[in-house]
Amino acid sequence: MQSRTFKQGIHPPEKKELSKDKKIEKVPLPPQVIIHLSQHTGAPCRPLVGKGDEVEEGQKIGDHDAFISCPVHSSISGKITSIEKLPHPTLGEGEAILIENKGDEEKKWEEMETDLFSLSPEKIREKVREAGIAGMGGAAFPTHVKLSPPPAKKIDSIILNGCECEPYLTADYRVMIERIEDCIFGLKAIMRSCGAKNGYIGIENNKKDAIKLMQERMRNEESIETIPLKTKYPQGGEKMLIKAILKREVPSGGLPLDVGVVVSNVGTACAISDTLKKEKPLVERVITVTGDGVEKPSNLLVKIGTPIKYILKLCGLKEEAKCIIMGGPMMGISQWSLDIPVVKGTSGILILTEDKIEAEEEQICIRCARCVDHCPMGLLPTTLIKFIKAERWEDLEKLNLMDCIECGCCSYVCPSKIPIVQLIKWGKNEFHKISS
Ligand code: SF4
Ligand code: SF4
Repeated sequence: MQSRTFKQGIHPPEKKELSKDKKIEKVPLPPQVIIHLSQHTGAPCRPLVGKGDEVEEGQKIGDHDAFISCPVHSSISGKITSIEKLPHPTLGEGEAILIENKGDEEKKWEEMETDLFSLSPEKIREKVREAGIAGMGGAAFPTHVKLSPPPAKKIDSIILNGCECEPYLTADYRVMIERIEDCIFGLKAIMRSCGAKNGYIGIENNKKDAIKLMQERMRNEESIETIPLKTKYPQGGEKMLIKAILKREVPSGGLPLDVGVVVSNVGTACAISDTLKKEKPLVERVITVTGDGVEKPSNLLVKIGTPIKYILKLCGLKEEAKCIIMGGPMMGISQWSLDIPVVKGTSGILILTEDKIEAEEEQICIRCARCVDHCPMGLLPTTLIKFIKAERWEDLEKLNLMDCIECGCCSYVCPSKIPIVQLIKWGKNEFHKISS
């Protein structure tokens, strides 16, 4: 099996064996959900409901008219008990709607016969927006925006990202195995909405059965191809995928649409399929719960807004559990509260034990250039952090600071244990404030 890839990157231990063979299990309805009003990149929603209101599963409860935004929906039927600031997995804190489960049954979303070609590209975009779909690979960028390239940008190719290059996580893998038809339907819907002729599904070659299944299924699909990719982090980065599959280089400061491409995650494709076939908004998603600190590593279908303490009760937290990360070990975010809920961009919950968390002391830079050798964006991390500390913003612009994808390869390989990516994230924030 020939596999393509990009230059540089790293090979961290994969750790997928803990959960890869665990079929997706549906989590029972939680007693309460916490629906954050900001679960996507862009303008946070404004509440459309108030305390005491009764809501139905799938009802829109928050929205904003900004183009870069998308609505949120109630993931259960119940009663609004409050709207208040609560812990948020990526923002620290955010306004959220609390809904109490009144014991109603879960809504049945009936599948309809859907002819994609009877839907215009505009209609697909409108349905995707109204369903509140945002990128489910982690970035949570509103999907209808991605599907609306400016007329000057002609899109010829759609890449479905099935890499799941973060160690430990296996939710996308299970989705590809268990929901293959929805992945393909979603991909075709994206192709139709963007007017793209070619579709690709990029899968890392540590998921051989998913590759085989997709290749067999694609035999009769003329315009869609399954592309095996080398297992290397961060192979699932948009720019790395485009380079590996199409040999196109997204320019500095540019977007995939600048080279005629839209990239979408396999989970997002399934959410698109759900809304087009069942009129079902984004009210649930598949996540991986894994790590050495959890008794029963699993792939779970959970309602958006389910508090993680409810999920961890089902999976069993070991006594030695020390650290909870939302996402994978490379780009995930450590959490300080078990009250945080699953949001649209939550791909996994990783529980690590003390022996898995290295707390080595930071040393001085020995100018070994390992960070430079492994940076997939061709940046100079060691120079970037030196200039960030000196607040040399003009020089940082020339060194393309904002091109950093925050993958963490530089921190991973640094023998001096310098928290390079944390410094760069801080620098990007400061740079953003200065230039806006
Ligand atoms: S500088 Fe940014 S893009 Fe380069 S390795 Fe570090 S985190 Fe990744
Ligand atoms: S890897 Fe660490 S020690 Fe080596 S040059 Fe980069 S920052 Fe310095």
